[in-house]
Amino acid sequence: MIAQGNKVQIVDHPLAQHLLTRLRAYQTAPHQFRRYALELSDFLVYEAARQMNVRETGVETPVGPAKGAVLSDYVIIAPVLRAGLIMAEAAQKLLPAARIYHVGLKRDEETLEAKSYYDKLPDSLPNDCRVFVLDPMLATGGSAVSAIDLFVKLNVKTIQLVSFVAAPEGIKRVHDKHPNVHITTASVDTQLNELGYIVPGLGDAGDRIFGT
Ligand code: URA
Repeated sequence: MIAQGNKVQIVDHPLAQHLLTRLRAYQTAPHQFRRYALELSDFLVYEAARQMNVRETGVETPVGPAKGAVLSDYVIIAPVLRAGLIMAEAAQKLLPAARIYHVGLKRDEETLEAKSYYDKLPDSLPNDCRVFVLDPMLATGGSAVSAIDLFVKLNVKTIQLVSFVAAPEGIKRVHDKHPNVHITTASVDTQLNELGYIVPGLGDAGDRIFGT
């Protein structure tokens, strides 16, 4: 794992890079894409979870007492619809006690900003809350920032973002507004093209996952 600054974590594990390469390939069919995406999500969420807090505890094994540690954060998984759903499936497997709040965003045609059209967030959240925003493609950063904003408004202090691929422009936009957000990704790619796609990226993640 490579840390870029201390807020961008690049998961350079050979298995993760293998899966990312399969996802990038245009020949990868949707059913294969979904499988690789789920597997890559496992690795990314696993690495992102290194940031989590634990509470030290004692435990009795059949042979005697041992020191142990249990997860102590109140965890929220927040997939950004629709591509984030596949990451949520993996995250839920690794963090089964987590709450899942889906976030639907669409572009406001006047301001060109991403606005929420679906979120069922509560009025308040506990102080020890850790949110994993799952947005597979961190491109312009518009959707990631809007999703993060929703939780900042609820006074959440610990927010992480997990993406398959990130563009430098998206990382900058997230950190300009939310410098404490920790980002985990399998790659920081070169740039965005004029359509807002990540280059080289992997194309439209939602279309490739759902075969649309
Ligand atoms: N969303 C995608 O699915 N792909 C990109 O390259 C950019 C945004």
